[in-house]
Amino acid sequence: MTLQLQGLTREIFAGNAPIVTRFAPSPTGLLHMGHAYAAWVARELALQSTEGIFLLRFEDIDTPRVKPDYYDAIETDLKWLGLPWNETPLRQSTRSDAYQSALAQLKSIGAIYPCFCTRSEILAETARMPSAPHGPDGPPYPGTCRALSLEQQQEKIEAGIAHSWRLNSELASQLSGPLEFTDLRFGRICVEPSLLGDVILARKDIGPAYHLAVVVDDAFQGITHVTRGEDLLQSTHVHRLLQTLLKLPAPAYLHHPLVTDEHGKRLAKRADSQSIASLRNAGKSPQEIFTLIERSLDHSATDIN
Ligand code: GLU
Repeated sequence: MTLQLQGLTREIFAGNAPIVTRFAPSPTGLLHMGHAYAAWVARELALQSTEGIFLLRFEDIDTPRVKPDYYDAIETDLKWLGLPWNETPLRQSTRSDAYQSALAQLKSIGAIYPCFCTRSEILAETARMPSAPHGPDGPPYPGTCRALSLEQQQEKIEAGIAHSWRLNSELASQLSGPLEFTDLRFGRICVEPSLLGDVILARKDIGPAYHLAVVVDDAFQGITHVTRGEDLLQSTHVHRLLQTLLKLPAPAYLHHPLVTDEHGKRLAKRADSQSIASLRNAGKSPQEIFTLIERSLDHSATDIN
């Protein structure tokens, strides 16, 4: 395989302490070339240290979207691609107690608040606001429920109105003070809590949500280097804040470029025709798949150096 870990700062490997990484797919679809590259990056980074560990974690908390067959399908694809992992894969669906206890900690320091807004109320409110810069999930939450008093919150909870839990990003950043994180491609980045705003940490329907679960599990699994697509760079601002509030260690990061199709469009899970399984069934070898990935990265990756 000739793929390179593009544009990395080499000093990160100087100490040669074991590097622990993870690949964290959601079993909601088949793996495509973007996932193959993400898994390869994570494993390759771990292999840069002599006792590196590459872990597999199933992000399966969004239970209505999970399909049981995909756990096995993902494992089959990774083995076929020559990307074996260490240890039994962790399933987030088994980690509810850990997420609840993290939520309770955040509640006890006043860093989260219940939000009773419906999706359409939020849309109507954001439409009224002057347009602000926003992340991949749209404009940040306008903060409507942040202003509710404890009595008002209690009244709504007692009335049985469904609620999510949101990070009070302003208060959280006052508690944490200024923060930064290190990315192996992008360098040192100052945390800007307002980028994604008051994100949801527990959803009305499924409870603990991505931002909370990922932070709790990266610490639980002893991840030293979080690798993931550059589309998630903004999420890391939230994650550093949560790590600090929950007194968890700060890993290093590598936000890698995204594999795109021939039109420069990001690959989507829905496009089953581009899945690793269908490429395999069409007679492609793992080496050919990595060559396709390399070609895509050559024409789409932003060269940072
Ligand atoms: N499940 C996420 C994804 O597939 C992983 C996010 C992460 O690595 O933090 O994009």
